[in-house]
Amino acid sequence: PRMPKHPHATTPAEILRTIFGYASFQGRQEEIITHVADGGDAVVLMPTGGGKSLCYQIPALLRPGLGVVVSPLIALMQDQVGGLTQMGVAAACLNSALTPSAARSVIEDMLAGRLDLLYVAPERAVRPDFLRLLGQVELALFAIDEAHCVSQWGHDFRPEYRELAVLGRAFPGVPRIALTATADEPTRRDILAGLDLHGAALYCASFDRPNLRYIVKPKDHPFRQLMEFIRREHPGEAGIVYCLSRRKVEETAARLAKEGLRALPYHAGLPSSERERNMDAFMREEGLIMVATVAFGMGVDKPNVRFVAHLDPPRSLEAYHQETGRAGRDGLPADAWMVYGLQDIVAMRAMLRGEEAQVSGSQDHDGLAHKRLEARKLDALLGYCETTACRRTVLLGYFDENFQGPCNSCDCCLEPPETFEGTVVAQKALSNVFRTGQRFGAGHLTDVLLGRASPRVLELGHDRLSTFGIGTELDRDGWMSVHRQLAASGYLSADPDSYGGLRLTPKSWDVLKNGRSVSFRRDAKRSARRATRAGG
Ligand code: ADP
Ligand code: ZN
Repeated sequence: PRMPKHPHATTPAEILRTIFGYASFQGRQEEIITHVADGGDAVVLMPTGGGKSLCYQIPALLRPGLGVVVSPLIALMQDQVGGLTQMGVAAACLNSALTPSAARSVIEDMLAGRLDLLYVAPERAVRPDFLRLLGQVELALFAIDEAHCVSQWGHDFRPEYRELAVLGRAFPGVPRIALTATADEPTRRDILAGLDLHGAALYCASFDRPNLRYIVKPKDHPFRQLMEFIRREHPGEAGIVYCLSRRKVEETAARLAKEGLRALPYHAGLPSSERERNMDAFMREEGLIMVATVAFGMGVDKPNVRFVAHLDPPRSLEAYHQETGRAGRDGLPADAWMVYGLQDIVAMRAMLRGEEAQVSGSQDHDGLAHKRLEARKLDALLGYCETTACRRTVLLGYFDENFQGPCNSCDCCLEPPETFEGTVVAQKALSNVFRTGQRFGAGHLTDVLLGRASPRVLELGHDRLSTFGIGTELDRDGWMSVHRQLAASGYLSADPDSYGGLRLTPKSWDVLKNGRSVSFRRDAKRSARRATRAGG
């Protein structure tokens, strides 16, 4: 038994005020804190920036003994511990970055009851020698941060997380709280099962980020579109630009810099010294743009990021929600902006198909289920990109949240897209795919439909096809958009072996033969082009 840590602060609200300096709880923080402080287990699903840390920090201070926090990233731990120490909370971390003597001194403090919170990496948390140490002290609680790392379905899977269930078995009376910003159903199930938290109270906060505006544009000249967006909406402000490949990250950062913007690259292939330097600059400087792969992510906590731009689509809506969630953590207006096009759909579907072929060869049922899930996630992402309804409704719907649009803060609500009945248009596009032999991309297909006698069209003899020149009702952009939308909704598929060539699917025949009705969104013309036209 030891002295109460903060003898004068006895309620959650008091600790919030006196130690953390906040006036009131946000969201369901108070409920969660009370539940855990009373000894209950909890699973907390809350978006990035929602305030998860206080949900275990305050109960750890209210309860006697040591609060043990399992966290997967050393940098994250150090930030947290630094912040807590400044507020006068006795916090420390044990990780591989400590010298042996520093580690010994942390363990001494812990055994002497001088610590309120101890942050450890998952691999350490399950080590027998560490469990023996824990057996010698009074424990306030276990907090398992980034709990989605337990799920094999996710991209942050950490095998050590599977072993964390041992904490519950070894210390049955100590409350456990698992926290994550990933909230889809399969991950949720994995957290309950993998951490053995079936009896825990589930707190699912709203995933809505009211201060974010969502914008998705058809990709035509992505870099130019990005420049326009930054110049018009966010001159001199801090932002993150996500790209898929390391090369594109470096190219984009260099091009932005050439345009006179302060931009730095970040990806896992850079020397760690450069990565750290760039990260530091981003955190410290005003108005710096970080161009990054998804390696730049977990734990980025800069409050005044004014925009997150995707030059390539994220891998799922969860990833999108997390990545865009890094904007506007200060609660002020911020933008989640993305450009996306047919090539992205083709690339993503081809990648998925490639993986599918691999697993089906190996008769791996888990693997197959995984791929089916990935395919559903991709469909959900494409559905979001193509929607003509409120984007917030679609995004939150993915997290099982019923949001009644319009939100008046997404491009679909602000400038409702026109739609048109396009069954005949679809039939023309699909029969053109068929007539040309199901191996061409949207550019060539559009040439044929428009009756453009390009050298390639002539060389292939496609000017003699019945579909040559039948597409006068739409312009080039219109047909490109139609092909994209057909691919997004599964009326066309991309053959991984034909370099982006589009093929028919069983669904296509439903349109061709049965006249199944199809409608399309009419993409807005880019503002620059409109301006040029207006200018003559
Ligand atoms: P998460 O871990 O969910 O991403 P954090 O715990 O890092 O979120 O909190 C995000 C930010 O919100 C932090 O800067 C934190 O200090 C702040 N915050 C958390 N709770 C409150 C509150 N009740 N009032 C004001 N600010 C808060
Ligand atoms: Zn909306």
